[in-house]
Amino acid sequence: MHPYDYDLFVIGGGSGGVRAARISAGHGARVGLCEESRLGGTCVIRGCVPKKLMVFASQFSEAFEDAAGYGWSVGEARFDWPALVAAKEKEITRLEGVYGRLLEGAGVTVHEGRGRLIDAHTVEVGERRFTAKTILVAVGGRPTKLDIPGAELGIISDDAFDLPEQPKELLIVGGGYIAVEFAGIFNGLGTKVTVAYRRDRILRGFDEDVRRVVDAGMRERGVDIRTQVCPARLDRADDGRIEVTFTDDSTARYDQVFFATGRSPYVGDLGLEAAGVTLGRGGRIEVDDDSRTSVENIFAVGDVTDRIQLTPVALAEGHAFADTQYGGMPRQASHDNVPSAVFSQPPAASVGLAEHEARERCEALDVYRSEFTPMRYTLAGRGEKALMKLLVDRDSDRVLGLHVVGPDAGEIVQGFAVAVRAGLTKADFDRTIGIHPTSAEELVTMRVPVDPAT
Ligand code: NDP
Repeated sequence: MHPYDYDLFVIGGGSGGVRAARISAGHGARVGLCEESRLGGTCVIRGCVPKKLMVFASQFSEAFEDAAGYGWSVGEARFDWPALVAAKEKEITRLEGVYGRLLEGAGVTVHEGRGRLIDAHTVEVGERRFTAKTILVAVGGRPTKLDIPGAELGIISDDAFDLPEQPKELLIVGGGYIAVEFAGIFNGLGTKVTVAYRRDRILRGFDEDVRRVVDAGMRERGVDIRTQVCPARLDRADDGRIEVTFTDDSTARYDQVFFATGRSPYVGDLGLEAAGVTLGRGGRIEVDDDSRTSVENIFAVGDVTDRIQLTPVALAEGHAFADTQYGGMPRQASHDNVPSAVFSQPPAASVGLAEHEARERCEALDVYRSEFTPMRYTLAGRGEKALMKLLVDRDSDRVLGLHVVGPDAGEIVQGFAVAVRAGLTKADFDRTIGIHPTSAEELVTMRVPVDPAT
């Protein structure tokens, strides 16, 4: 007889929760999981996956333009928004099914509904209550809107994937990942896009060169980036559009206003207080390096802990939790040198430190930087530059940061992330033969620092 219904009960069927449930069950645990919406969570249903599909869709317009330089005549191209939404939905539904079957195959019991902690060992899902020795909270985050009059007229990223009509004119508020990615998507699909960002340049926190080159590339493609400005109120105009009054008192009308102003932990009405779980800044669940909360048998992984809001990080945290608790392989997910890509247009990707961070951490920094026109743009007549940048600690010769802006940035940096994580030196990079002709070969052929350490 077991004292509890389950060894582990997971609240949330997104990336972190599904990974933890599946691996724990594989290690022999009796696992239950509840999900209030669709299996797959933010990444699969309303995040990374549909976003990337839409990025692909939006890149055709540029490809059609560039094709002329290579001798192609392309007839009049037309884009059908409902067709894209339907195709995207079909793929998301397929993936949702894959997630369900993965859980089923691993022996995890799935319960539909929002989970709520009654006490440290009891979860209520709808009318039913389940007990578990261990509980894992993996409920993710939710996009936030600005607290301004009329904010209810605006949309968030969840809505942007399924708009009944493609907006002709769109205002995107914010300058982070979601703002720049969706600016590229809608711009590529033919929407007139304005970005309103409250500070001086988009992608705060990224390397300054990355910010500069992405900003220039977005403007070059026609995105109107307005800085030092933010909406102060939204009103429904007579023509049905949304009238935005900005903080500088200017006004403009748009078909949609999209808040891409950050995501918050989704902790409302979860019963965390009842169970004694401590929350930190912005409502995030505080956890230690083993993802354990302030309550001994309650753990949390993914965006709800707001360590690094990235799917692969949630996967790593969920997997480490399962291996540690049920697999006899204690380990912790690493949050160092986490690579990431921004699927903006042009795309950017980085691993390791930005230049401003590297300068703080080492005494002498060598900066290697190359800006050049990617070969594929030459015949196309596109003047846009790509960026490759390496930051090297002169004392140890270690590569501390690596940044790419340009075609396939994410694909390039994923490979180089292994080298940076392994602590390889500039000499190791120099000994590596380039693949010619590629853009990425620049990363192993840059020989002279542009900004020698002082
Ligand atoms: P970010 O934190 O990246 O960006 C939020 C933006 O909103 C910032 O530009 C911020 O400005 C601005 N903002 C925040 N509060 C206000 C305010 N009160 N008034 C005006 N502007 C404000 O969040 P996102 O929503 O873009 O994305 C959430 C997270 O999801 C990301 O941090 C990322 O971790 C993850 N993500 C990852 C992706 C990927 O890996 N490709 C893609 C999409 C999301 P400021 O800079 O001044 O703070």
